[in-house]
Amino acid sequence: RTWDESKLHKSLLKIVDQVGYDEPSAVQRAAIPIALQSRDLIAVAVTGSGKTAAFLLPLLQYISELPTLDDYTKNDGPYSIILAPTRELAQQIEIEAKKFATPLGFTCVSIVGGHSIEEQSYNMRDGAEIIIATPGRLVDCIERRVLVLSQCCYVIMDEADRMIDMGFEEPVNKILDALPVANEKPDTDAAENAAVMSQHIGGKDRYRQTMMYTATMPSAVERIARRYMRRPAIVTI
Ligand code: AMP
Repeated sequence: RTWDESKLHKSLLKIVDQVGYDEPSAVQRAAIPIALQSRDLIAVAVTGSGKTAAFLLPLLQYISELPTLDDYTKNDGPYSIILAPTRELAQQIEIEAKKFATPLGFTCVSIVGGHSIEEQSYNMRDGAEIIIATPGRLVDCIERRVLVLSQCCYVIMDEADRMIDMGFEEPVNKILDALPVANEKPDTDAAENAAVMSQHIGGKDRYRQTMMYTATMPSAVERIARRYMRRPAIVTI
């Protein structure tokens, strides 16, 4: 199958072509259409499968479709966060993200250990639609109020199993609990559901969209999925 079947906007397909990805990889073919339907997704896929572009392209399409885009305000923080277990992976994602985001005029900033909070705060001075972060450092930034997440409704967890291995279950929980828009939970009652539904983000009612990429499914990863995801589609590559 080809990129033309992916339902990505022409503007994104043009960049994909310029980047030189002739055909979508298996995980891209499986995951992109699901993500474009605003569904939550668990993708079991390894590095080298093209997973980064699989989650970045629908994310960029989501951001381009936001009705408030013209008055994007840095004071309300990023539209989306991508969580990764290590600084190295976060920086790799940033490089891949910039290939697609820069031509569209969107800014990506990574927030990782090893740089001072002041330096990272400086990098965000003009705002960033996309933040790529390691969980511990992101929690630091939230607690020190260097970063707010009041309009962030699109979350990607990359290498979720490695994040758990590295002891990040608690910061991941803290981050997801800090987001303004909840996911519908299976046990929410009608009143609570209505309250969630009435939150206006980006000018329309919406839930958070949450996506997880992982190589394996240990029970701690399942726990995060059960707690924070809404009827996720599952694809295994
Ligand atoms: P990832 O699994 O995301 O780490 O990607 C592995 C490598 O494949 C990266 O160097 C990407 O730039 C590259 N890549 C991703 N998608 C494609 C594609 N559809 N065609 C060719 N290369 C790709």
